[in-house]
Amino acid sequence: MLFRGQSGDSLFTLSLQPHWITLGVDETFIVSWDRGGRLYSVYRHGHTFRRGLNGRILEKWQDADGWRRWDTLDQADAEALVDDGARLAARVRDAIGSPHWSWVGEPPGTTSGELDAALGRTIAFTGTASRRDAARFAEIYSPVGILPPDQYLSVVVQATEGCSFNTCTFCDLYGGHFRVKPAGEFEAHLRAVRDFLGVSLGLRGRSIFVGSANALAVPMARLAPMFEAIGRVFPDARGGTAAFLDGFTGVHKSAADFGALRDLGLQRVYIGLETGHDPLLSFVRKPATRAQVVDTVRAVKEGGVHVGIIVMIGLGGETFAQAHVTDTIAALNDMPLDGDDLLYFSDLVEQPGTPYPALASERAIGPLSAERRAEQRRTIREGLRTTSPPRVATYDVREFVY
Ligand code: SF4
Repeated sequence: MLFRGQSGDSLFTLSLQPHWITLGVDETFIVSWDRGGRLYSVYRHGHTFRRGLNGRILEKWQDADGWRRWDTLDQADAEALVDDGARLAARVRDAIGSPHWSWVGEPPGTTSGELDAALGRTIAFTGTASRRDAARFAEIYSPVGILPPDQYLSVVVQATEGCSFNTCTFCDLYGGHFRVKPAGEFEAHLRAVRDFLGVSLGLRGRSIFVGSANALAVPMARLAPMFEAIGRVFPDARGGTAAFLDGFTGVHKSAADFGALRDLGLQRVYIGLETGHDPLLSFVRKPATRAQVVDTVRAVKEGGVHVGIIVMIGLGGETFAQAHVTDTIAALNDMPLDGDDLLYFSDLVEQPGTPYPALASERAIGPLSAERRAEQRRTIREGLRTTSPPRVATYDVREFVY
């Protein structure tokens, strides 16, 4: 339901949807909250902002030369932005109640009570409320390192913490600590997540993402009961469950295992192939081979589960470029991919503090130019030989927020 109203010189838009509410003024300041009242998106004067459940607000914009830029707001600016959103909601509520207000087009009619309730929740979500909410999130979750872009609005549940390998030289997503949650702790975590999200589950309940880095590495005897627990606590997850997996852990599960997980709700597995070139996998210390990843994908697909394959663009720079492209195409063509699968191209981001930049520098490997990266993406895409190609999308780790 979309409504418009005018007060003085200002034109307001109000979009009341089953799972979110968006308010805008003069198309220069537009704010969205989920129906639980948590702010999650802001547009202001050409800049967009995304608030994660952890309270972090990511700012994105294009600079004068057309390059995309990102920044994280500091705590004070983040709370000020949330306060601005709450003030906009209060301004809309007060304007609607004033004699100067006039609806442009259809007024809300019987939905006005629902609109009032939604506005009340957004007004209550101030910067202080946001800080308290983020603190509660931190009690329930260990840091959520990354998600595939199509899972940003899923409900993350953490069966494990950290990454069981943690060796990849380009990766700073997880610390050294890895553990599997005992069954009782995991079920308590699930209930805490459900209670924390409350009404916000409407926006985020599309699917459940089972974290962290490689939760599917857990042996079936422990993993299957975890999936059963997810089904008990989140019986209405519309899109089932999804999780990351790597070739070096995936080979320990059979097609029958993945079929059993599919019967328990698993719909998609995301696998970081990164490259099909084994010497490059060794160079970046990813403990997998191309053959292991291909075998894993075959087993996952045979089990009736979709995949999302992640290829890293620019990995190994010019030194590895040709072999990276050739062997990645070969690996992808060895996988039984189809139109239900996803292929993500993820640009290498050289994170300071990771070993990759120094190791690359030792071998005089510089970053690929934007043009060469675009060419790499294009060549890999054009090399796909499947009759029903996977959907291709960009995976930019700098845009992640949860
Ligand atoms: S890229 Fe994946 S497997 Fe490698 S260290 Fe990072 S989380 Fe672990």
